[in-house]
Amino acid sequence: MYDFQYARPANIVEARAALSGSNEAVLMAGGQTLIPTLKQRLRKPSVVVDLGSVRNLGEVQIMKDKIMIGAMATHANVAASPILAKRLPALAALAGGIGDPHVRARGTIGGSIANADPAADYPAAVVALNADIVTDRRTTAADSFFKGLFETTLARDEIVTSIHIKVPEKAAYAKFPNPASRFALVGVFVAKFKDNVRVAVTGAGPSVFRLPDMEKALAQSFTPDALVDIAVSPDRLNSDIHAAADYRAHLIGVMARRAVAACG
Ligand SMILES: Cc1cc2nc3c(=O)[nH]c(=O)nc-3n(C[C@H](O)[C@H](O)[C@H](O)COP(=O)(O)OP(=O)(O)OC[C@H]3O[C@@H](n4cnc5c(N)ncnc54)[C@H](O)[C@@H]3O)c2cc1C
Repeated sequence: MYDFQYARPANIVEARAALSGSNEAVLMAGGQTLIPTLKQRLRKPSVVVDLGSVRNLGEVQIMKDKIMIGAMATHANVAASPILAKRLPALAALAGGIGDPHVRARGTIGGSIANADPAADYPAAVVALNADIVTDRRTTAADSFFKGLFETTLARDEIVTSIHIKVPEKAAYAKFPNPASRFALVGVFVAKFKDNVRVAVTGAGPSVFRLPDMEKALAQSFTPDALVDIAVSPDRLNSDIHAAADYRAHLIGVMARRAVAACG
């Protein structure tokens, strides 16, 4: 680990000031990805700006017709939220299936989407749920937030403050986890709204993506059988030591049908 300064702002204004003080300043949420990369000397920040003391960033609240989840809500907070248990249990279940108890106690929804790991679970949820990503300066629809492998529209000094989600009629997430880390080899989140269905896939490609063919078929008939004849192409899917692209393509179909079945 290289030497760095440590800042612990009490609010977003102070956090923004700490970030703008240096081009090499970096935000830290729970440190679940950041700290290992510092230990491995993959990053050399001048200042680590720890969001851990920023007030009111970790809450789950109902706001009009949406649920607002603060960026610093840990996976354990989301998994245990009574609001989500009642209105969006699929998201609580997704959070409860991330990593292990240690990771869930420290890792955050804001850190997860800002990091945009191709195998992370939350990107599938926020894209399928058509969520808004709110930062200290703008609101971005999840559809345009994720740009590629570990890449989002966030500026270097931009702070995710919350995620706003409209509650769907039905939703479920099915994941085929890597047995060691619990990261998704393939994860499919299905959300049925009054007027449309959205299906988003994580783990299979360089970044989260939607499946328009499945969305159209499910809008006609919201049953697992509606997906049986839809083949997913392995082109542009990941092949690695964990799974080949054609196996991931097959898993997308299986996980999508399981998610629809889980919607009940
Ligand atoms: C052993 C292990 C197993 C895991 N298993 C899974 C799994 O099964 N599924 C899964 O989805 N994830 C998994 N993860 C990832 C984990 O859940 C965290 O979501 C992820 O590591 C991000 O951690 P963090 O929130 O502590 O963010 P940090 O590590 O603190 O930050 C990550 C990145 O996001 C940036 N950042 C953080 N917060 C913000 C913000 N509010 N605004 C802008 N930028 C920000 C930081 O600058 C940094 O670049 C696993 C991690 C580990 C270590």
